[in-house]
Amino acid sequence: MMEAASPFLNTYKRFPVTFLRGEGVHLFDTAGKEYLDLLAGIAVVSIGHAHPKLAKAIATQASQLIHTSNLFSNEPNIQLAAKLTSLVDGTFRVFFSNSGTEAIECAIKFARKAAAGKRSTVVCAERSFHGRTLAALAATGQPQKWKGFEPLPAGFVHARFNDLKHFEESIDDSTCAVLLEPIQGEGGVYPATLEFLAGIRKLCDERGALLLFDEIQSGCGRTGSWFSWQQLGARPDVFVTAKGLGGGFPIGCCLVSHELSHHFQPGDHGSTFGGGPLASAAALTVLSVIEEEGLLENSKEIGALLAEELQSLPHVLEVRGRGLMLGVQLDSDIAAQVTTQALEMGVIINAVASSTLRITPPLCLSEKDALHGVSVLGDILSNIQG
Ligand SMILES: *Cc1c(COP(=O)(O)O)cnc(C)c1O
Repeated sequence: MMEAASPFLNTYKRFPVTFLRGEGVHLFDTAGKEYLDLLAGIAVVSIGHAHPKLAKAIATQASQLIHTSNLFSNEPNIQLAAKLTSLVDGTFRVFFSNSGTEAIECAIKFARKAAAGKRSTVVCAERSFHGRTLAALAATGQPQKWKGFEPLPAGFVHARFNDLKHFEESIDDSTCAVLLEPIQGEGGVYPATLEFLAGIRKLCDERGALLLFDEIQSGCGRTGSWFSWQQLGARPDVFVTAKGLGGGFPIGCCLVSHELSHHFQPGDHGSTFGGGPLASAAALTVLSVIEEEGLLENSKEIGALLAEELQSLPHVLEVRGRGLMLGVQLDSDIAAQVTTQALEMGVIINAVASSTLRITPPLCLSEKDALHGVSVLGDILSNIQG
């Protein structure tokens, strides 16, 4: 007889908690216990849980029109495309996907198409994360994630993040693009330096390579501007975003600088679900709530407050990041232990590395809730010896 096993494929190591509902920055589990969510479903739930405007927009759109395919246009998608491109001065053109990794695939395909078969290599960063589909995985600079999935698509090389010289050596006649996270997320929250990004932009211009930014995690207001590159002084040729865009509804997109956009023509790329009415209505609502509630400013302010307060806690060596995308570097491999204890005490964070905590709360986090989170983490860290 078959043993009664989990019906799931064993891809996730999960905490023994099941959530039933959420409200703003709080979650409630099946036992009714309340949690302060300082992770937001990994930088996804940007405007908080169960935002009434988002719930209403999705319900209204669902009762009107859910899907038509990309053989036709739909109103919410037209509005979303106009809104998104207006956030970058109308100088980009957009393609919609359903996830981050699909947006990366689009960016890579675009860079190769634009190079017209003459160049195909993408130079990526060590420790980067770009997704789980095969090309995005090949772009990801974490060899342990490649294991068992070879052969990966060819044409990806990796250079040390923030090491301009290593990138300079890695870009050659075969390079069609450089792909970077302006702030590495899954790798442990490591921001690129302004000098590095400026140097990379210059290198790309000199050598005729496109500069692609992965803003899947850092985009949509998380760092205090719509996209982090807008405060970093380096304009990409192509950038992608996803996580926070739909506030939890799956959607991603790839934006291409308008003067390059002719390199894609009908038939070159596509998606059955991408840019559907429901996802578009959700994302449109998320973007307008971010504006109405001043969440870019809030992300900057509360992010700065959190960074300052976290910095003074025991075991904390460094707080990295921008806005509400923060990494807390601890002095030893206690991140998993701290995360588990925090969960028990009703605060959700993430151990992004063995000695690094990640904090990516909803952008509407209040000062009071931020300080409560810090005080719980402070209690936990004070009680750890060493
Ligand atoms: C999450 C993430 C991805 C992958 O996005 P999915 O929606 O999980 O496919 C890619 N790049 C970065 C920087 C991410 O944070």
